[in-house]
Amino acid sequence: MPEKNLSPARSSEWALAVQHRLLAWGRTHFEAYPWRAAGIARWQALVAEFLLLRTRAKQVGPVFESIRETFPDAAAFGTADDASLRSLIAPLGLRWREPLFVALAREIGVCDGNLPRTAKELRALPGVGEYVAAATAALHSGERAVIIDSNVVRMLCRLLGVPYNGETRRKRWLRVLADRLTPEVGFKEYGYAALDLSMTVCRPRDPLCEDCPLLSLCATGSGYQDPASGSAESLSTR
Ligand code: SF4
Repeated sequence: MPEKNLSPARSSEWALAVQHRLLAWGRTHFEAYPWRAAGIARWQALVAEFLLLRTRAKQVGPVFESIRETFPDAAAFGTADDASLRSLIAPLGLRWREPLFVALAREIGVCDGNLPRTAKELRALPGVGEYVAAATAALHSGERAVIIDSNVVRMLCRLLGVPYNGETRRKRWLRVLADRLTPEVGFKEYGYAALDLSMTVCRPRDPLCEDCPLLSLCATGSGYQDPASGSAESLSTR
């Protein structure tokens, strides 16, 4: 079966309602992590997003603070010795990440923290994949980018009422949907809301559907059926 026929369609009204409700929820549920504070240097934000990959924010917090306290600027970070850099992130596990962290620090030092702004350019940096690049661009650089992490994938699939697995994030229909939901203006606020709601409310086990602002629009939570669901084309081909 062609991939496009695997995705239920959703109307523009549905997409707009999801977007608006996420933005409204985000205004009162913003998680004030240190890397989200105003005035954080972009190189520090990039480091935080790098560390957040497959790692809980609660674990990343102390390591991030330690990096901020240890290195006053990008040049100091970029010229630290390998062992110091590795030991800073050792508590987070994922040892394969350590050489990438060192390589990323070197690049940050070379450009003195003046990192590229777009997700496409950021992806050229060591250890910076699609999620880290998009999050750094949209949340810290003022460049619209579509943020998709495993929590967002789970939330979008539950909204549609379709199964998901490790491969779902690469599906075209999922990316098209995520792009469609990301506003041109307010993409930063939307990104924060989607990340936070999918992590704290649409959590992996026992989603808190009764507390979810998307409940009445969600196929999984309330059995919502979109009038456009008879046509698979509108979502898969936009
Ligand atoms: S209603 Fe439930 S399943 Fe649907 S998005 Fe919200 S928390 Fe997730």
